[in-house]
Amino acid sequence: MTSFKDLGISPELLQGIESLGFETPTPVQSLVIPHALISEGDLIALAQTGTGKTAAFGLPLLQLIDPAERGIQAVVLCPTRELCVQVASDLENYSKFAHQYKVVAVYGGASITTQIAQIKAGAQIVVATPGRLVDLIERRAAKLENVKRVVLDEADEMLNMGFQEPLEAILGAVTARESIWLFSATMPDEVRRIAHNYMENPKELNVGGKNEVNKNIVHQYYVCRADDRFSTLKRVVDANPGIYGLIFCRTKNETKEIAEQMIRDGYNADALHGDLAQGDRDRVMNRFRERNLQLLIATDVAARGIDVSDISHVINYGMPDEIETYTHRAGRTGRAGRTGVSISIVTPKYEEKIKQIARKNRAEFERLMIPTGVEVCEKQLFHIIRNIHEQEVNNEAIEQYMPAIYEELKDLSKEELIKRFASVEFNRFIEYYRDARDINIYPKEGRRRDGDSGKVAGANGMSRMFVNIGTIDGVSKKDFLQLLVQEVGIPMPSVGSIDMGRTNCHFDVEPSYVKQLIKSLSEFNLNGRRVRVDEALPRTEKFSKSGGGEKARFSKPDFGKFGDRGRSSSKPDFGKPGKGFGGKKKSKY
Ligand code: AMP
Repeated sequence: MTSFKDLGISPELLQGIESLGFETPTPVQSLVIPHALISEGDLIALAQTGTGKTAAFGLPLLQLIDPAERGIQAVVLCPTRELCVQVASDLENYSKFAHQYKVVAVYGGASITTQIAQIKAGAQIVVATPGRLVDLIERRAAKLENVKRVVLDEADEMLNMGFQEPLEAILGAVTARESIWLFSATMPDEVRRIAHNYMENPKELNVGGKNEVNKNIVHQYYVCRADDRFSTLKRVVDANPGIYGLIFCRTKNETKEIAEQMIRDGYNADALHGDLAQGDRDRVMNRFRERNLQLLIATDVAARGIDVSDISHVINYGMPDEIETYTHRAGRTGRAGRTGVSISIVTPKYEEKIKQIARKNRAEFERLMIPTGVEVCEKQLFHIIRNIHEQEVNNEAIEQYMPAIYEELKDLSKEELIKRFASVEFNRFIEYYRDARDINIYPKEGRRRDGDSGKVAGANGMSRMFVNIGTIDGVSKKDFLQLLVQEVGIPMPSVGSIDMGRTNCHFDVEPSYVKQLIKSLSEFNLNGRRVRVDEALPRTEKFSKSGGGEKARFSKPDFGKFGDRGRSSSKPDFGKPGKGFGGKKKSKY
């Protein structure tokens, strides 16, 4: 296997990258470095973010700088401020045992006076967003006459973001250049045009297929009704305990809305969008980078330049219009040789889009069924168990409390103890998902159909209904029938069989009363818990083994103020410090 030394990297830079833990070159590094070091020609490298492209251009760039010469010798153009800062810091890290080259990052939204002073102090490499660099050129603060190398990092993104004009102005201004190195994840016509107009016989290096999504990324999707998208998102997140994810929304408003709802439901989430002041954006990004934030909900624009190498999941809350946007989103996971998962939550009309993306990217997309409440709970349970197993013990701190703890628990057997520890978190999941219905949309052939509605048919042409009231609420079949007839106003003969379960109830009703029933019954409250009634879908899950079969306790409820079920129905609190996420504890995935 080729080593960085074989590629011609100098001993000082070797020391720098070894200290960062780089042992063997990534494919893009193996391809680009030798070519960049020995040839003065232009090159185009098709490479996804996260493949190690910063070192692919950064190492040869540093090695080719003349340390004795002051003034700007190389320019790296990046689409975002975040990426500029990241690239500049990477270059400094690679060269920490070499000559201390002067690398300066310049970008909009920060003091231009400070940046001018930094450049004047003898910048040799400038890492810039195109707009800001043009500003600096116009103010004669950045002189590009001696620039030999220009790197276009994420060229497709820069053009996507409308940087075409400043980009062309810069390329036109670097008259003494020897080479342009263009890096792009995709090759749309706009990038081709830049290459055609400004580059000479560029050498094309293709890491993986053209427009091909990273092979380390698994693509999955879930199909649901539009109304169920948020519930699906929560199920997917809950079914992936330990997720460290980036959730993409299509608009700023959707981003804000979803973030607010997630936070309200107790998730460790926050939003990143264009309405945030730079300081707030930085704060959110830092929390995410340091893993104090588990879920970052972002727009495409705001998420550009996010360089976090161990994002476990990207979730597309709705599909983007452009296929290339999907490729970029997915490319935020599966980085640095790790495997990542890109999940899309779509309504049926977007299934065609998924097929298009799959064809274009030559990637496989697997449709998964939305996890049932039972499946989510099982996932969470075993996650809890693994966390307990892997929990680091601070012997010194806990030792003094142990005698009292043993005393408190002394009457419990090992089995009882385990059961109780596991139940601390698990109960809340069970409670939350106890009445969770199946929100999948079934492929036509697999569906139990009632006409074309996809609902479960009741007997004798009646509609089969579901309501989250059960015997546990002290409601009997008779009570429930009385409620339907007296409070909702459905004639007795229009109500069919009632199957009263422990936590929910299925019953038949004349189809013409379905609307009235849903509207009226939904107005009832169960001590803060809204009564939920809907047409029954196939496969309604119950948790309690005795569900549906237990003898009812016949006590008449007060339907105006349904009695308490005696449990909290609040969403489990993820991400509590010390619960396996947040803080600087070891990763659980
Ligand atoms: P990049 O595509 O440049 O953003 O790199 C993605 C991640 O891979 C960064 O966290 C790098 O530090 C890491 N990386 C780059 N090259 C290597 C390498 N040869 N070995 C190990 N990690 C690397």
